Amino acid sequence: MARIVMKFGGTSMAGMERIRNVAARVKHVVDQGNEVAVVVSAMAGETDRLVGFCKEASPLYDPAEYDVVVASGEQVTSGLLAMTLKAMGVNARSWLGWQLPIRTVEAHAKARIESFETEALISAMSSGQVAVIPGFQGMMESGRIATLGRGGSDTSAVAVAAAVKADRCDIYTDVDGVYTTDPRIVSRAKKLDMVTYEEMLELASVGSKVLQTRSVALAMKEGVRVQVLSSFDDPTQEELPGTLIVSEEEIEDSNMERQLITGIAVDKNEAKIIVTRVPDKPGAVASIFTPLAEASINVDMIIQNDSKDRGETDVTFTVPRTDLARSVDILEALKDSIAYNRIITDADVAKVSVVGVGMRSHAGVAATMFKTLADRGINIEAISTSEIKVSVLIDEDETELAVRVLHSAYGLDAEAAA
Ligand code: ASP
Ligand code: MG
Repeated sequence: MARIVMKFGGTSMAGMERIRNVAARVKHVVDQGNEVAVVVSAMAGETDRLVGFCKEASPLYDPAEYDVVVASGEQVTSGLLAMTLKAMGVNARSWLGWQLPIRTVEAHAKARIESFETEALISAMSSGQVAVIPGFQGMMESGRIATLGRGGSDTSAVAVAAAVKADRCDIYTDVDGVYTTDPRIVSRAKKLDMVTYEEMLELASVGSKVLQTRSVALAMKEGVRVQVLSSFDDPTQEELPGTLIVSEEEIEDSNMERQLITGIAVDKNEAKIIVTRVPDKPGAVASIFTPLAEASINVDMIIQNDSKDRGETDVTFTVPRTDLARSVDILEALKDSIAYNRIITDADVAKVSVVGVGMRSHAGVAATMFKTLADRGINIEAISTSEIKVSVLIDEDETELAVRVLHSAYGLDAEAAA
């Protein structure tokens, strides 16, 4: 017997027919003798619809009432699922955020979970009752309802799994796992059997939008084993059909043969800024990045060259595309104090990253990347690295070519499809 948290996304909950499929899947896992808690999202499109009503009610809507409205989508699906389970003869009940309670910090629409009272939940689960929990919601110290930010049900599910010390948190979604890269770009992308938390964080935040990034960070912190799988494949098939997201130790122990590179991520949400002829003296780069930080603009890649005795240098960096105009405004207002020559911007760039814990102990990963891109005449505009990732900034038009050639170069291509 195991204790399993099952999470179903909006596509899986969209309409009664799908909710019945979800209930059948839950029943299957219960019938195998497991203790089960289920975390659900609102029906697909429902949260957007509710947000729309709030905006219509008042452009400057009250965030506390916004949470009251948008949390209702999950309340509907949790009740419907519990009802459907009971009709199938499965003992089940819903537990709303305030009934557990899941306590959050005081920050409407973007709350973080602070603590979780599990006594009642665990005793219900161990008596054989399935707990159905609406994702996305919690309760503030003040007693008011809070929501966790868009996509927050993934984080709710991981928090429930951590709190009840679940053996696994299965996240059912509309993709059947995590791939080596976006299968829409590379048709020979492969589904990964296992990926480490750290790799998943890199792959998720750079474009493989499978899970809310915060949920992966929480799973890593709490050591929750997560499986991503599809809610549309056969529930009675082999036990673990999806991708497991686990610690590096668990992967090492599994003796799986590992590739040096686990996956390739693409991010088209950044823009490049070059600030030319900045004085090469202490404090110069601080005078550029401090005001951006104060405006909460998240700078990612940064390059600055040696000035070679000229006394001035160019500073190149990237910011989120949505913050490009604001960044330029801020820097233009400070032209005299920073004392640069001019600002050049380019929004048509893409960041391509190769990710893999294997590169910690191997030399040559970056060299392979640069050579592969050079062979195709792809120019690299900026580079950044971490222990498990090498990223390059290239022209957006060359993204697909770059991803395809890198996918082959690191041996990630699946056997040709029949
Ligand atoms: N329903 C919420 C949203 O659409 C939370 C979730 O589904 O994860 O953002
Ligand atoms: Mg989701």
